[in-house]
Parts: sequence; structure tokens; C-alpha cells
Amino acid sequence: MAIQLYNTYTREIETFKPLDPAGKVVKVYTCGPTVYSFAHIGNFRAYLFEDLLQRQLEARGFRVHRVMNLTDVDDKTIRNSREAGVPLHEFTKKYIDAYFADCEVLRIKRADAYPAATAPENIQRMIEMIEVLLKKDIAYQAEDRSIYFRINRYPDYGKLAHLNLDELRPSGRIQQDDYDKESIGDFALWKAWDEKDGDVWWDSPWGRGRPGWHIECSAMATRLLGDELDIHCGGVDNIFPHHEAEIAQSECCTGHRFVRYWLHCAHLLVEGQKMSKSLGNFYTLRDLLSQGFTGRQVRYALIRVNYRLPLNFTQDSLVEARQSLLRIDEWRQRLADLAGSASPDPRYALDSAERFLTALDDDLNISAALAELFEQIRTTNRAIDQKELGPAQAAALLREWETMNQVLQLQDEDARIAPEVQALLDARAAARRAKNWSESDALRDKIAGLGWMVKDTKEGQKLTRVSGGT
Ligand code: AMP
Ligand code: ZN
Repeated sequence: MAIQLYNTYTREIETFKPLDPAGKVVKVYTCGPTVYSFAHIGNFRAYLFEDLLQRQLEARGFRVHRVMNLTDVDDKTIRNSREAGVPLHEFTKKYIDAYFADCEVLRIKRADAYPAATAPENIQRMIEMIEVLLKKDIAYQAEDRSIYFRINRYPDYGKLAHLNLDELRPSGRIQQDDYDKESIGDFALWKAWDEKDGDVWWDSPWGRGRPGWHIECSAMATRLLGDELDIHCGGVDNIFPHHEAEIAQSECCTGHRFVRYWLHCAHLLVEGQKMSKSLGNFYTLRDLLSQGFTGRQVRYALIRVNYRLPLNFTQDSLVEARQSLLRIDEWRQRLADLAGSASPDPRYALDSAERFLTALDDDLNISAALAELFEQIRTTNRAIDQKELGPAQAAALLREWETMNQVLQLQDEDARIAPEVQALLDARAAARRAKNWSESDALRDKIAGLGWMVKDTKEGQKLTRVSGGT
């Protein structure tokens, strides 16, 4: 089955086919963080769904060329940097660095480029695009000296968000970057400098000012990926006004269709409620790490629900993530112990990795894919218990897991035994040889304190990770 994706624009599931005549390269643009604070776990739900998409496309042989912007100038970054009394660049740098560190912890693959809105080549591109729109009389300068996009000059305006403009009756203009459908109107492409902007401004043919948020993405996407992209992603809150505006600006400028497939993930809720600072249910990754959860556990908890369904994030879901990962770790360890140095038996192809990928082909159906993995775990554990699985078969299954893990990125990379654990293990082996059982038990507790469970088998002590790890 070819990859099927739900396109917000058409509201249909469509078979994915890239623009590239060779059918290989996929051009993807993902709206990146607005770097005015630490990204929250809702943001990371969006970035992780995009990571899953990229890895699935790659597992199916596509070469993904992905761009993610950094919104380092907009209403929010200016407001917060001024409140903090820190120059804009210095202020946003802190959050850009934190964003990359968090992505690393969550095992999110890096994009090919992270253009920043304030980079001179991007500002230049924004100015050029606005000039084109002014020449075509689709944009105009208002009395406030800012430049606005005339939405009634673009007949397709509202198609992505499925708005009925007759009913909404747009009127007036809107200066701020984010607003709801009720305030629809001509939106700002370039905002003339005012006092609130402080020392944040660029020269333009229309005087000092700064870009609107929407034109930033149109400029960076088309500059780095060309006029037409394959896939553009974000969370559902980006559909309107941000992505609607991106389409209008880009298509009016280039004369080409901007994006072929629009993908949006549903929101993350916390304990059934919208996440907000005032409700006290607002989490960054850092908050969860300081509670003792690991990046791998958070990754699992954030990817395990299909991206188009709301994700209800709870403390229980993190505990479940910990248990599910433990189950995967134990299974993999059993297979590795059994496989030893055996080569995989080519006749023992269970196709479970293929079934796993086929589930994901269906609009990234991760719940079906994980169900496939856990079914595999159940059946092979049973086969190992009943001594029906040989080393070469175990090695073949480990290969299947590696394919699945290319997409999931859930393997315990920290499963290497630390030297202090090894020293305790050696001491315990000696205690057992001397039949000093109380010493052996005391050492087992010490090993447990370092996050490992030790079991005594015929072949000797076997270790399993029980907490911590990556
Ligand atoms: P922002 O930094 O606000 O521009 O948002 C970055 C990304 O996170 C965008 O794709 C948003 O749509 C997405 N996003 C924001 N809040 C949530 C949420 N609660 N759940 C899922 N995605 C979100
Ligand atoms: Zn964007």
C-alpha cells in the first residue's frame, strides 16, 4: 500500500505522491517554534508527529528534505524580550538553544535547515515578496504605514480553514499576528515601526518596520524549497490564520500552488483540559524530566496516539509509557541473549516489521502499528518460554525490531552496563559462590537502586533495566 495521508485542504485521505518526477525527494516544511519561552509538550506533540512522518517516509524509501523555521521575531518575542529587558537576539538565543537540546532528548531528527526569520536573506526575501504583492495591487499601504494583504483579491482565501466569507463578512484590518475567525480581515504583511517595537526594526522601501508572522513562513518556505512544496505541517491552531495567510501570500506571489498536502495534528490536552499556565497544568519537557521521567518515556507518551486524535496527556500515561518501554526492553534483551552471535535465519521472516510499516502507511496509524509490535512481543515471548525459538530465529526478530525502531526511536540506548553496576554484579557472583545469600540479596538491592533488576538463571545473572535510562 502506498502512503495515505489526510489532507486538511481537501478533507480527504489521499495517496501520497511527491512532486519529484523520480518519486524520491519529498519537500516538507514544518512550522517551527516561536522562541519566546521554552517549548511545551503540546508543541512537542506537533514536532513528534512530524518526526514520525519523516521517519515513515524514509522507511518507505523517500528522501525527505525538511525545513523548519525559527520564529525569532513576532509580537510575542518582542513583548517578552522587552519585559525581560534583554535584546531580542540574546533573548531568543536562549530558547533556540533550549529547543535543540529538547529535540535531542526526544530523539527528534534534525531538519535539513532551520532558517531564522531575522536572518538578512530571509528579511530580504520577505521584502521582495511584499513588493510583488504591492505591484499586483493585492497588498496596500494603509494610513498607519503598515502593509496589508487584501483578502478579497484572493478568491481562494478561506479554503484551507473552510470558512464561509459571506457569513463571516470580513471587515477592517487586523494588525496582530494571531486572531480568531471572528476578527477576519486584511492582515498585516509588514508592520510599520511603533514604540512597542523598541530597537527591533529593518529598513524597507516603505520605511522602518518588521515583518508579520505569516509572511515569514511564506518567504522561508519558498526560498529554501521552491514555489511548490509536497507537505506542510503544523498543529490545528496553525490552520487559521497562519496557514491560510501563507497560502494566500505565496500563491499570489508565485502564481503556483503552494502546498500539495496539508497535515495538522490535533491538540494535546492535559488531564482532559486545555493546557494553560493559569490552570497549573502547563508542562515543558524540562518539568517532566525533573519529575524523574526520561525523554524516551515522554517520546512514547506523545507519539502513541494517532496524530489526528486529541491526545489526553496524564501522569498515568507516563507511567504506562514506562511500563510499555520496559516490556519492549525485556523482550529485546531476551532475543539478544538467545541470539548470541547467531546470524539471522532468512527463512524466519515473520513480516512483522512490514505489517508495522503498513499500519503507518495508513495516515500514520501508530496505534495499529504499536498493536502489531506488542502482538509480536506476546507471541515471541511465548515461543521463547516454550523453547520453540532458536538463536537464528531470535536474530531474525531482532532485525525486524531494528526496522521498527528506525521509525519509533524507542530503543534503550543506555542499556550498556555501567562499571559500578558491573562491579556489584561481580561481587554478587562471588557472594553466591561462597553461598553468602544475605550478601547476595544486599547486593541485589544495591543494583536495583541503580535502576537494574538482576535475575539468577542457569546461565548466571541476567540484568534488566527497570527505570531511568534514556
Ligand atoms: P508556536 O511556537 O506557538 O508557533 O507553536 C509551534 C507548534 O506547536 C505549532 O505547530 C502549533 O500548532 C503546535 N502546538 C501549539 N500548541 C499545541 C498543543 N496544545 N497541542 C499540539 N500542538 C500544539
Ligand atoms: Zn509557519
